Amino acid sequence: MPDRATPPTPSLLTPAEAAAAILGEIDPMPVECIPLPETLGRVMAADVPSPVNLPPWTNSAMDGYALRSADLADGVPRELEIVEEVAAGRFPTRSVRSGECTRVFTGAPVPEGADTVVRQEDTTRLTDRRVRVDDARDAGRNVRPVGEDIVKGSVVLRRGTLIGAAEVGLLASVAMTDVYVHRKPTIALLATGDEVAELDEADAILEGRKIASSNSYTMLAMTRLAGAEPMPLGIARDDPADVRQHVQKAFPADLFVSSGGVSVGEHDHLHGVLEEMGLQRRFWRVRMRPGAPVGYGRVKGLRWIGLPGNPVSTMVTFELFVRPAIRKMLGHREPFRRTIPVRAGEPMETPSRLQHFLRVRLASDGDGLPTAFLTGPQGSGILTSMSKADALLVVPEERERVEPGDELRAIRLDETRHVEVVPF
Ligand code: AMP
Ligand code: MG
Repeated sequence: MPDRATPPTPSLLTPAEAAAAILGEIDPMPVECIPLPETLGRVMAADVPSPVNLPPWTNSAMDGYALRSADLADGVPRELEIVEEVAAGRFPTRSVRSGECTRVFTGAPVPEGADTVVRQEDTTRLTDRRVRVDDARDAGRNVRPVGEDIVKGSVVLRRGTLIGAAEVGLLASVAMTDVYVHRKPTIALLATGDEVAELDEADAILEGRKIASSNSYTMLAMTRLAGAEPMPLGIARDDPADVRQHVQKAFPADLFVSSGGVSVGEHDHLHGVLEEMGLQRRFWRVRMRPGAPVGYGRVKGLRWIGLPGNPVSTMVTFELFVRPAIRKMLGHREPFRRTIPVRAGEPMETPSRLQHFLRVRLASDGDGLPTAFLTGPQGSGILTSMSKADALLVVPEERERVEPGDELRAIRLDETRHVEVVPF
């Protein structure tokens, strides 16, 4: 056994165990029925079977002439009699027989008998009643069959689907004016610390007496990006009474997220206050860097995730624990961003026995795996390292060093593909 300065403490959870513990206790929000235009970013709470065929009738993909392809079998030019004109929004009254055609426009129903729409550019109009087809390239084409997109009775969108622009369009197509979705969770966000200030104390920040509560803003932004409603609770001073007063305001929320105040220092009062209020704590540290002091529990029915105060730690732990929790509450069945394989582009030191999430920029040389380069110093207070990062490089606990060329996995911070099981 190698001699280690910091032996692993088995009682502490790994990040994967911590994420699984949190998600295991979080349920999707109750269902509500809301007007279609408000559903963007929500998740379908029920399968939607289509009450109609789409398109509802066989229709023309072109402005042109609907006819029987058999009439073009002997080649062109071929003259036909125009029996009717049907614009989009009108319906044919006659079928098309041999030697006949119907003037149609894009979207117009194609009459019985016709299996082809020859586009207008391939014809010459001879008289009101006669047209000549000059090119037969469209024989058998330009007819969009009824139900081509959606067959009546089939499921248009499944439960668990994120509603984006295309989904709003699909729901509109089947006349769903109101849609069953999961309620949007409200996330109470609390910052802590005597040294941090709201931006209305800009003077103190600019004069160097206080630091801005950047966590208030990153947590707000990440909450919105995850699809939830932020409920900012401001900053609690390092004073038990003030912490208590702020925590009280969290109860109407669906999840309570705090930053800072959860280390072991004597000015860290959050644990004490939450315990007084009856906290049932699941864990309070995780074997990871950045961000070891992550706490999770329940206080009077309200779920609490306590993030560390260092700005990078706050963001990384929000990404790994809070965002998946929000996604599960929103009704997503796949809460976690997937990881992708990458290659290290430089040596990296990760000596402590903790799982590391390094901020990296990914470079792609065309073929092969993307190459990961550190975004600079990795201190948990260095927020620029996060701003420059494309991804978090996941370095397993047992690795003390990464060599250039080593294959590892990374979480792209703009990854839109998600997975059901913790991937880190
Ligand atoms: P704590 O976990 O409260 O000991 O805070 C750890 C570090 O994070 C300290 O350097 C704090 O100044 C910093 N910090 C805590 N809260 C915030 C915040 N809301 N915004 C920016 N930095 C913070
Ligand atoms: Mg503090």
